[in-house]
Amino acid sequence: MKGFAIRDQMNGVEEPPGKTWFWELEAGVIFADRCIQCGTCVAVCPSNSIGVGDDTGLPELVKMCTGCSLCWDFCPRGGLRYEALWPPSTPSGEGDAPTVVKSDAADPYWKITGGPPGDGLGALLERYAVRAGARPDDAQDGGVVSAILVAALAAGDIDGALVTKPSPDPDEPWKGVATVATTAKEIVSNAGSYYNQTMALAELDLSRYDLPAKPRLAVVGTPCEIQGIRAMQARRWPTGAHRIDAVVLTIALLCTKNFDYEALTLRELRDKRGVDLDRVSKVDVIHGRLIVEYIDGRVAVDEPIKDFHGAALKGCDECADFLGRGADLSVGSVGTISGWSSLLIRTEAGLEAFHRARGRLDVRDLDDPEALLKLDRLDKRIAERSLERKLDPDAPLFIDYAEHLSCYAGTDRAPVVRDR
Ligand SMILES: Cc1cc2nc3c(=O)[nH]c(=O)nc-3n(C[C@H](O)[C@H](O)[C@H](O)COP(=O)(O)OP(=O)(O)OC[C@H]3O[C@@H](n4cnc5c(N)ncnc54)[C@H](O)[C@@H]3O)c2cc1C
Ligand code: SF4
Ligand code: SF4
Repeated sequence: MKGFAIRDQMNGVEEPPGKTWFWELEAGVIFADRCIQCGTCVAVCPSNSIGVGDDTGLPELVKMCTGCSLCWDFCPRGGLRYEALWPPSTPSGEGDAPTVVKSDAADPYWKITGGPPGDGLGALLERYAVRAGARPDDAQDGGVVSAILVAALAAGDIDGALVTKPSPDPDEPWKGVATVATTAKEIVSNAGSYYNQTMALAELDLSRYDLPAKPRLAVVGTPCEIQGIRAMQARRWPTGAHRIDAVVLTIALLCTKNFDYEALTLRELRDKRGVDLDRVSKVDVIHGRLIVEYIDGRVAVDEPIKDFHGAALKGCDECADFLGRGADLSVGSVGTISGWSSLLIRTEAGLEAFHRARGRLDVRDLDDPEALLKLDRLDKRIAERSLERKLDPDAPLFIDYAEHLSCYAGTDRAPVVRDR
């Protein structure tokens, strides 16, 4: 309880009215088990007072808190409360036409989450099913994220990309950690999905990387991480070590939930199910199931995702942003057939990045846009239920599993039900 120890040392210091301290974030979010490990509080702190705990992987004070309130204000589970920033539902395009919302501050609909919830897929210029011509071996789906990053780097539009790499610690197999990739080789070798949060935005202290004085970065992150970035970009303040100003492109990975590394990978997979983590080639959450494959092609685990709910981050239940509405590009598996990715292009910056990569991509119409809408609606209802449960702990948390599965009905990702 480092924060409280520091508070003790500060006893007697006169406290101006209206200050919000880090320990209020601790009490309301971190100790309340609601932290979704995005790293926004670390990145936003102008005095570099917040670090990442070695043992916990959670934010903790590393020096004196000044009570500036920014960590609370920008936390997606604290003051940011992005749902509250949605304007009322507004009419959009004609018929089924996607809503066109420019993602810049001059647009009245510009919000951290990119637009109101009634607008279907959110701000959208174009949408496609896409796969990379040369798909990296470890790509999760169409290898689209990696292809777009490689093209942006080759064109000189970015100097690097904040992505996720395997932990170098041999005691942490299949744990993803945040890193800035500065070469095409690094981008390609870090393709694929890790089902743990990485405190990614804490990595925006770029001092350990060899980058130009005015670096330009792409950030690949879960929608909550993109919310943190958008909020920080929208409001200027004297920043600390973290280079929010460097972010020129944001790519959200569609996300309904993420997991605690130890609870999912070590306890549920290794200890309870005997998975040999050194032989795993891929972990996927797809068509409502968690699937673990070995290098020899054998399926080690194939179970309904609801069996692993206890290992998920509790704060994810409150999340209503499956689609990464605030990003320049959103990419996921839902809505396309296997081996392809769904790509939602939301802003001019996203469109430019797509055109840069166009020659490296196979592109066609989305197979099943309704699948994306369905899963988004389900995600929002789970968030609503989660809030209801705060008022009434006996209210049911889960939505019908069959409804979750029905989100995949329009593609070959529809589940082969193998419940035992
Ligand atoms: C936790 C999580 C949950 C997801 N849930 C869904 C879902 O419910 N529905 C859906 O349609 N898609 C979901 N996705 C997205 C999907 O798994 C693929 O990432 C996406 O389709 C892009 O595939 P790709 O082959 O184009 O990307 P690739 O070319 O394989 O590149 C993926 C990029 O993501 C980065 N990355 C990997 N793990 C993380 C992480 N934890 N945090 C930040 N960056 C990371 C990699 O470093 C790489 O740069 C999820 C992804 C994650 C990480
Ligand atoms: S949710 Fe993000 S901003 Fe909030 S405490 Fe956790 S890491 Fe910090
Ligand atoms: S479900 Fe929401 S809060 Fe959880 S990791 Fe995904 S985007 Fe973040």
